[in-house]
Amino acid sequence: MPHNALYSKEEIEKQVDVLARRIAKDVGQSPTILVGLLNGSVVFLSDLMRRLYLYGVAPEVDFMVVSSYKDGHSSNGTIDIIQDIRSSIEGKTVIVIDDIADTGLTLLEVKKALAKRNPAKLLTCVLLDKPSRRKFDVKPDYTAFTIDNVFVVGYGLDSASRFRYLPYIAVLSE
Ligand code: 5GP
Ligand code: MG
Repeated sequence: MPHNALYSKEEIEKQVDVLARRIAKDVGQSPTILVGLLNGSVVFLSDLMRRLYLYGVAPEVDFMVVSSYKDGHSSNGTIDIIQDIRSSIEGKTVIVIDDIADTGLTLLEVKKALAKRNPAKLLTCVLLDKPSRRKFDVKPDYTAFTIDNVFVVGYGLDSASRFRYLPYIAVLSE
């Protein structure tokens, strides 16, 4: 195996289930849309939405592609929306889904952009959180796993477009 497994397929399944229950309890029957940030969130989102359905939530799903530009090591940065969602989010509960919150720039800026479109509620959900790396003031509402400052791959996360297909989360060892 080229990597050290950090969380197994079974551990991920269990945490996704825990998250889905919590989200279902919070959003109830309100109209809900999951906004996945491509490409990293795709595996997490596809498991999470099916779990949500099991707990009575029938969300819409849409996707965005963004790229972020950090300004050196200061707390400045911007994102470009490369591909926007096509759905209206007005009056809906929006849950932004990303693979990992690192500096926080992506989540913060996506939240800012979507907040202008009058959602009823704007929430964020990540598979992984690295709080020690945070530079921008944002905290995900839902987190499956909190990790140290290590570079992880698998379950949607890549290294130079590789390893997204791994069914587990691993620390890249190279
Ligand atoms: P942020 O905008 O929070 O600084 O960065 C979030 C993005 O950085 C993630 O969506 C992901 O693309 C990338 N990233 C941060 N840490 C990792 C990591 O450990 N592994 C991988 N594969 N991507 C990471
Ligand atoms: Mg990403």
